[in-house]
Amino acid sequence: MFPLKKIALVTGGSRGIGREICRTLARDGWRVAINYNRSADAAKALADEINGIAVGGDVASPADVDAMFTKIRAELGEISLLVNNAGIGEYGLFTDLSFERWNELIGTNLTGSFNCCKAAIPAMVREKSGCIINIASMWGEVGASCEAAYSVTKAGIIGLTKALAKELGPSGIRVNAVSPGCIETDMMARFSPDEREALAEETPLGVIGQPSDVAEAVSFLASDKARFITGQILGVSGGFVI
Ligand code: NDP
Repeated sequence: MFPLKKIALVTGGSRGIGREICRTLARDGWRVAINYNRSADAAKALADEINGIAVGGDVASPADVDAMFTKIRAELGEISLLVNNAGIGEYGLFTDLSFERWNELIGTNLTGSFNCCKAAIPAMVREKSGCIINIASMWGEVGASCEAAYSVTKAGIIGLTKALAKELGPSGIRVNAVSPGCIETDMMARFSPDEREALAEETPLGVIGQPSDVAEAVSFLASDKARFITGQILGVSGGFVI
């Protein structure tokens, strides 16, 4: 199903879930391009650790994404796996949400995936092979109070996943999403210990998830074990959303 070279790009690979996805894919034999926006040192250290490359760029910027793909093609070759993971969150009342912040969330979480898909897909279509995995969120499935913009972007990611799966299936390209619940990363830092405990209690499995829980789901979807799976939204939420 895959072309000869296992070359992957993970956006937002410098920290959190993305970093664990990079490590897990490297374990599975992928050469990984680790995209970062601000955390250059962390991305470079990870590249040394997993024999990958670090590529800077804001996924919301088409010019940055073009430059990123040029560097990856020059140093590793064409990618056959794209993991759209880069994302930002925002918590607050809808009435306090500014136009600028709304656009920032749409830009990073949704247009970022659009930009990377646009850059990656033509070569995948030529090869008649490839895999795209989008990191959604359970809030994109059911909506979260005080996270309207975030929920909208993740619902958009789910729509993009299903639409592209239908459009690209005939070209041998699989498109799936992983939809995490509460996962222990910097994104959760704004919650107090009490709030975290409440979130764990609300989770049927009784704990907050770890980045590796998401990374192993990505590893599966990227592998040939998932060769007949496309257009699916795989929940990794400990049962929070069923
Ligand atoms: P973190 O805040 O820990 O990490 C975010 C990552 O995204 C960083 O590597 C950051 O890079 C990168 N990033 C942010 N903005 C940009 C940008 N404009 N261009 C390129 N990279 C960018 O978040 P998580 O690891 O928790 O989240 C990863 C994904 O998982 C996100 O899409 C998030 O929505 C999703 N998710 C997370 C959940 C959770 O509970 N943690 C739950 C559900 C979904 P840098 O530091 O270099 O700027």
